[in-house]
Amino acid sequence: MSSSSKRFWPKKLSDWGAFIFVQSGIHLVGFYELLVILPYIDSDRSNTFWFHVCFGLCLYFNTISSFILVMRTDTTTSRDGVIMPSTLKPGWRFCSSCEANSPPRAYHCWCCDICILRRDHHCVFTGNCVGFANHRYFILLIFYIMVGALYCNYLNMDYTLEVLGGFGLKTVFTMFMPLFSWMLGLTQTFNFLVAFVSALCLFGFLLAAGLLFYHLINIYHGQTTYERGQNIREWDCGWKQNVRQVLGERWYLIWISPWIKSPQGGDGINFPKRGIFEDVKDL
Ligand SMILES: [Zn+2]
Ligand SMILES: [Zn+2]
Repeated sequence: MSSSSKRFWPKKLSDWGAFIFVQSGIHLVGFYELLVILPYIDSDRSNTFWFHVCFGLCLYFNTISSFILVMRTDTTTSRDGVIMPSTLKPGWRFCSSCEANSPPRAYHCWCCDICILRRDHHCVFTGNCVGFANHRYFILLIFYIMVGALYCNYLNMDYTLEVLGGFGLKTVFTMFMPLFSWMLGLTQTFNFLVAFVSALCLFGFLLAAGLLFYHLINIYHGQTTYERGQNIREWDCGWKQNVRQVLGERWYLIWISPWIKSPQGGDGINFPKRGIFEDVKDL
């Protein structure tokens, strides 16, 4: 299977559900900000209005780009240029499903039905595995969702409070349980929609911030999600090397755009072990 023939769309029904939910959420919030919130904040279309439009579009472009890059980047053991040896080397294992040898840190994904290089986890929202080659784009995706949701919360605040009738117990209840509140008749349909979008931004921010924090800690320690669970520390080469291995040489620049080139300097098969960069780690 080459990267061009790789199935990058979600493979399972549950993945499709999560994928459509997130995509709908992003586009719903985007149109809501553009058509409802920004005209409310600045009905005269001054420079502030256009600043928010430009900043919002940049965030939108980066988020969608990261989505595409997570899905389109082949991180499987059959990616172009990678040839698995026929003899089993030390630290490697034979995958009976792929009927091929897999390098250290690679694991088989039962959703993707293939071994993934330095597998981190299977992401239901993109319907693909996060591994060696696309981990960076996944980090950027949750980073942009976190920043975007925080930005929308900031923009929405005044309008949401005005529509829901100011800060109070009923407003908090409607914000946290908009559907329940609407079904109980505590809020009208339009107010429900306003509360729903605000709740989406609030929970989107909390989820993305939690995920980002969790993954950055793992990257700092040179661990994947699986290795953290098993307390495997043998690939920890000091935080700078660990960060470079996932985010690439330009790890400090990539936050501007996922399209910035940032070579990882590895092949996803051979990884430096703990102790090799001891001098760098102690700096
Ligand atoms: Zn496999
Ligand atoms: Zn997978």
